[in-house]
Amino acid sequence: MNSQGINHYLEAAKRSADWHKSHINQMKKCRFDTIAVHGVYSMQEALDFNQGSIIEPIYMSTSQCYRDSDEMEAALGYQIPTWCYSRIANPTIYYLEGVLALLETYGSDVEASCIATSSGMSAIQTAVDPFLLPDPKEPSKPVNFVATTKIYGGTFQQFAVRKNQERLIEWRKVVNSNDLSEWEKLIDENTRFLYGEMPSNPGQAFFDLKKVIELGHKHGIPVIIDSTVATPALMRPLAMGADIVVQSVSKTLMTSGFGIAGAVIARKNLVSGIDNPEMKADFCMYMKTLPNRDNGPNLSPMHAIMALNDIRTLRARIDIQSRSTMTVAKFLSKHKNVEKVEYLGLESHPLHGVASEYLWLVDSEHDEQYGKPVNRYGHLMSFNVKGGAEAAREVFDSLQRIWRATDLGRIKSVATIPAISTHSQQGEEGRKLADIPPNLIRLCVGSEHPDDIIADLDQALSVLDGKKVISTSPEYSAGGASSATLRR
Ligand SMILES: *Cc1c(COP(=O)(O)O)cnc(C)c1O
Repeated sequence: MNSQGINHYLEAAKRSADWHKSHINQMKKCRFDTIAVHGVYSMQEALDFNQGSIIEPIYMSTSQCYRDSDEMEAALGYQIPTWCYSRIANPTIYYLEGVLALLETYGSDVEASCIATSSGMSAIQTAVDPFLLPDPKEPSKPVNFVATTKIYGGTFQQFAVRKNQERLIEWRKVVNSNDLSEWEKLIDENTRFLYGEMPSNPGQAFFDLKKVIELGHKHGIPVIIDSTVATPALMRPLAMGADIVVQSVSKTLMTSGFGIAGAVIARKNLVSGIDNPEMKADFCMYMKTLPNRDNGPNLSPMHAIMALNDIRTLRARIDIQSRSTMTVAKFLSKHKNVEKVEYLGLESHPLHGVASEYLWLVDSEHDEQYGKPVNRYGHLMSFNVKGGAEAAREVFDSLQRIWRATDLGRIKSVATIPAISTHSQQGEEGRKLADIPPNLIRLCVGSEHPDDIIADLDQALSVLDGKKVISTSPEYSAGGASSATLRR
């Protein structure tokens, strides 16, 4: 046997880690778009390991093989960077994690890492569960967390049913999240984290994040933010002091809609009263190598590369979609069949002021077109149709170009009625807490020309005037027999 010993691999790993670190430090000096395009994949890596492939390779392989038992021992002991088995790590997923960690900390000196997950929901579970374990010294002590009620419907269920009902972990509810005193009065020595979603889906709740972070840290409690709707192109909570960001990568980040994915991005050395130094030092690495290894909510490399590919154009896309959404929101505000329009970008929105302090198009000051910081408010808006639930359904059913789907952040415009879709499970009372009336239509404006979106909305709203509408031909169905028979 010709073993070179485990040290040989440890030294090689150190050289490789040093090189990676210096490469990442180089990337950190680049602008947002450059990081989004290149991420952590380098020419050197392409030439040395990937036959010069300019696009990140997709490692569709369950596992990695080793040169000998020494390398295997070092790898499975987590002593050298490795991806031994794709449930734990995979090079393609690493490229996605690398770029998200850089984008979420862009413009700051915060050090963060990322773990990709199979969905946004598993990202939320990954982010919150380690904080909800019983205290081993006093296992009977109650555990609670403080979270806003205006959150994604799935998050509402995870908190209300999976944590509160099933595990008796108390969810202390912040109803008006922009009132700091609400957060403050709910915190006690058993509070494990503060959680908020901003802007929230679909209610566009927004709060003064820096004050909430200050409050959490004053009590030694971590702050977790679902930043799916904003994306790092508009807001980067970690750079403001938050401890953990969760992303439903399925949405704006992977705008082409090829599948479901999630990510947790956490600062190194986060704040928490929990006695677990390893977790606090590098939360995502800890989750990756231990709890998620055992629970298995891993992402497929195929979806990682699809997300990575869409992220390259994130900033320009968010800019266009934000501008179109503003145009659409202004149009709807003046429409006689619309009762109310909610868009953080409208000055009439009660949270417009606070949102304007946080939502900035990244690098607009370095953009030839703008040359100064520019507010952008994203692609998510909602409107209430005059005439109640029935009228809202009629308008909704008349849409011809905007897709009826419970989706968001797509390159294509999508609309839903939250009361009968995303927020149907949580009942009347839950919807009241989340502020979801039955005549509310959530609209996510895509990258089409806004004139065409407006035309579609206009013709759909006109059904309430008793005007005749042109309907899509019932004979036409690209989906074949099954969808043709489903057609009314
Ligand atoms: C969709 C969504 C989630 C859940 O993400 P999935 O990828 O669908 O599991 C979480 N938070 C927000 C704000 C969302 O819009």
